[in-house]
Amino acid sequence: MAKKMTTSAGNIIGDNQNSLSAGQRGPLLMQDYQLIEKLAHQNRERIPERVVHAKASGAFGVLKITKDISKYTNAKVLQKGEVTPMLIRISTVAGEKGAADAERDVRGFAIKFYTKEGNWDLVGNNTPVFFIKDPLKFPDFIHTQKRHPRTNMRSTTAMWDFWSNSPESLHQVTILMSDRGIPKNLRHINGYGSHTYSLLNDKKERFWVKFHFKTAQGIKTITNEEAEKLIGQDRECFQKDLYEAIEKGDFPKWNFQIQIMSEEDTKTAKINPFDVTKIWPHSDYPMIDVGVMELNKNPQNYFCEIEQAAFSPSNVVPGISWSPDKMLQARVFSYADAHRYRLGTHYEMLPVNKPKSQVNTYHMDGSMNFSEPSSSDAYYEPNSFGGAVEDNSYIEPPLEINGDAYRYGNITKVDQDHYSQVSALFLLMNASQKEQLFSNIAAAMDGVCDKIINKQLALFEKVHKDYASGVKKALGNKL
Ligand code: NDP
Repeated sequence: MAKKMTTSAGNIIGDNQNSLSAGQRGPLLMQDYQLIEKLAHQNRERIPERVVHAKASGAFGVLKITKDISKYTNAKVLQKGEVTPMLIRISTVAGEKGAADAERDVRGFAIKFYTKEGNWDLVGNNTPVFFIKDPLKFPDFIHTQKRHPRTNMRSTTAMWDFWSNSPESLHQVTILMSDRGIPKNLRHINGYGSHTYSLLNDKKERFWVKFHFKTAQGIKTITNEEAEKLIGQDRECFQKDLYEAIEKGDFPKWNFQIQIMSEEDTKTAKINPFDVTKIWPHSDYPMIDVGVMELNKNPQNYFCEIEQAAFSPSNVVPGISWSPDKMLQARVFSYADAHRYRLGTHYEMLPVNKPKSQVNTYHMDGSMNFSEPSSSDAYYEPNSFGGAVEDNSYIEPPLEINGDAYRYGNITKVDQDHYSQVSALFLLMNASQKEQLFSNIAAAMDGVCDKIINKQLALFEKVHKDYASGVKKALGNKL
């Protein structure tokens, strides 16, 4: 026998086709609570969309560790042989929830590992660097990517105005405007933790680390023209590709690798290792194989499992921690805070966010607290009633810090060098990639005034004279 339909309070429904009306022709009766509940729920079917990374696809899978890196970390999730269930959400940054997939943008690459020691969230991008290195600039930067308050349109002027006044953005801008700015689909992108994190081993030694997920499918990209055609045919083309690949058992994989820098090395490193606008050169910090990540299950309900998924760099597990990277420091606060606003105070209790290990906090009350009621006397800490206690063996070793409290900015030569790594990237590109870079930039500068374009060209010139002249030529009589 079919299950009986009910209201959300469990009251059985007799008729779900006809409203309760006074007489055959109406009007409707206020007491038709079933109708009122249905309409009220419909009005509340949307939650605030993410201010950034609103449009996304997601899937479940596993992380398998195949190599021994125990000399760097004692994190259980990173021990050889460990298999950890995980969830990924791959997004565009700027577009709203209904934006087309095949847009030129950075892709968010957010992963939640449900480890035996709590959730580890690695909230990265498909690029190893970011546009800015100080979080004080973040809200302004995002405003330039979103709609102009008067026109309600996106503004190329605002974008290039901000970038040309923020030379640290050159590295990320160059990657965004390169062939990699529009992937063929989400299976053909790399993922990067982007920030520098730390690993801690059994001897309580700290190592700085960069996390990389290299696509086993190979990098594949599409041009502006191909993307325009694709968007015209199907705005959800990446979602479709990922969903269908997983449904037919063609599970995408990423090779998980790390780069390591010792605490001692930071003193002699040619770069500031905590500057997210810079990479660690492979020749100085070689890639170390760690394992494989595979996506093998589609979500059963997009809203519950992807829209309500809440990723935050604040979630680290013993053996993995943060670094002084200023952008990371701000994200540790800001992501969890966004979810408290977007989903509710107790958002980590939602099934998709809930750790698979025990959770023992002393948090109380607040919106969406749907934990089992407890009558324990141990509702504060410290207590004498057998409540959960801290474990001092998990305290991290001290981190040496020195210097005066100050708003530093780019005061050293190293910090002022926004150009050498971009130059290295530019020189890696073949002729066709360079041509794409030039024409993509020229297209993206449509409608921008000469003053701003010239300021940006001066920055390209500092990277390489061919970069500036290539863009200038591509701009043609637009300049
Ligand atoms: P390597 O030659 O050892 O590495 C170059 C890297 O550049 C490879 O990882 C390659 O990725 C990647 N790459 C190639 N084309 C592009 C592109 N259009 N956009 C983004 N990445 C691209 O040199 P270095 O380590 O010394 O780095 C040189 C430059 O390469 C850096 O300044 C940086 O711009 C870029 N880069 C470096 C990374 C790093 O972690 N060291 C990571 C990504 C980029 P793949 O192997 O997938 O082709």
